[in-house]
Amino acid sequence: MSIWFDPSLLFINGKWRACASGETLPVINPSNGENIARIARGGGADVDAAVASAEGAQAGEWGAMTAAERGRILLRLSHLVLEHGDALAEMEATDVGKPLTQARADVTALARYCEFYGGAADKLHGATIPFNAGYTVYTLREPHGVTGHIIPWNYPMQIIGRSIGAALATGNSCVLKPAEDACLTALAFADLAHQAGLPAGALNVVPGLGAEAGAALTAHAGVRHLSFTGSVATGRAVQIAAAENIVPVTLELGGKSPQLVFADADLGKALPFLVNAGIQNAGQTCSAGSRILVQREIHDELAGRLAEAVTALTIGPAMEDARVGPLVSARQKSIVDGFLAQAGPDQVLARASLPDGLPEGGHYVAPTLLGGLAPDHPLAQDEIFGPVQVLIPFDDEDDAVRIANGTTYGLVASVWSADGGRQMRLAKRLRAGQVFLNNYGAAGGVELPFGGVGHSGHGREKGFEAMYAFTTLKTVAAHHG
Ligand code: NAD
Repeated sequence: MSIWFDPSLLFINGKWRACASGETLPVINPSNGENIARIARGGGADVDAAVASAEGAQAGEWGAMTAAERGRILLRLSHLVLEHGDALAEMEATDVGKPLTQARADVTALARYCEFYGGAADKLHGATIPFNAGYTVYTLREPHGVTGHIIPWNYPMQIIGRSIGAALATGNSCVLKPAEDACLTALAFADLAHQAGLPAGALNVVPGLGAEAGAALTAHAGVRHLSFTGSVATGRAVQIAAAENIVPVTLELGGKSPQLVFADADLGKALPFLVNAGIQNAGQTCSAGSRILVQREIHDELAGRLAEAVTALTIGPAMEDARVGPLVSARQKSIVDGFLAQAGPDQVLARASLPDGLPEGGHYVAPTLLGGLAPDHPLAQDEIFGPVQVLIPFDDEDDAVRIANGTTYGLVASVWSADGGRQMRLAKRLRAGQVFLNNYGAAGGVELPFGGVGHSGHGREKGFEAMYAFTTLKTVAAHHG
């Protein structure tokens, strides 16, 4: 793996520097447990410096740039991401444990976000509003100012792309706190952004622990918008902190997303999607399709076909590019093992087997299909965040909707059916931020607004919608007689 910068440093005001405490945290390769580098343990003083630098950027060159100039920088950044694609993919695979193919897909997504938001930067505009005689009224879309971004470890590059991409396109200056388990590509991105011509202070990266750097960022009075992606518990703390400073907050939280399979579905087409939605990134995906709801008359047939597919999955170190890699950390593995311990032997419908010779220090969990559980069982309700799916039968559309909507979450849902009317009815009735009809995930679609309802969060990222979220609207009323 080639890291062309010193990962133990912070990126503030266009420069690398050590954190105030001088302390560092280990970077562990989840495929084998080896310590591969150290990252800074940023804290309150570093966040203060990062916010001051971001405020300086607003008052300086960055704040004065036209939208077209901002867009050009993002387009250059998109090219640089692709040019460094191999290094970024290896970094992400080694840091997160995700198979190389997935890490490469994340590189492509990051480049695409920069391209999309680079192209969109100068296409966001206000409106003129017909009003009383003697007035001209119009609206301006303005950046919030300094935006705080706190992200998790599962898809660092994709989440940086959608969140930082939209924030920079609209003229904000950003302070990014990546997750302590996966910081490398965030630091690499800052370096590439600098190479692309992003002025100093427009993007600052402060690695560190959530309770330290993260909490300091959410509490900082200079931060005018918070974008948080992570767990429900932390999201709640972030929203409370945002309330103290009365700042808007976007929360992208977890899910227990249902995939509804009706008896008239094309099972051959559905099967790879049904499985992949559960095991992509070893199930550590907010939008994982972790509940498969199946119409009762085809339950046994689908259970058999899913079991065959799950047991055929290959598992191995990220750089060997098997279908399923390790979980990100020993902690995450123990959480998932704890969930699996709740399932009785007759509730395990299928389980892949871990191959001999896996590195001992790796955090591997065999993909598992569960069944025979009531829809309100914790295993069918809680986000497991590992390669575990639950198969649940339903009788008819009403029953399917009741079970699908019967969790606290509402991130995404899919419907597999040949009946067009049913597809339209269910798209309306399902409680989710995205609904997929006869597909899952729409290939990631950077153009497609994404976010949840209920405990999955609120606000939307991705697509043009995020451009509104990262701006504030000013109404100007001129009285000229
Ligand atoms: P987490 O909430 O533990 O951590 C996320 C981030 O928050 C990390 O950077 C962490 O350091 C920081 N953090 C922790 N405590 C903090 C605090 N008190 N104040 C401020 N920041 C703090 O979540 P995780 O375990 O890293 O990620 C897994 C969760 O993220 C899952 O629930 C998953 O569904 C969710 N997720 C959601 C999306 C989405 O787009 N909806 C995407 C990816 C992951």
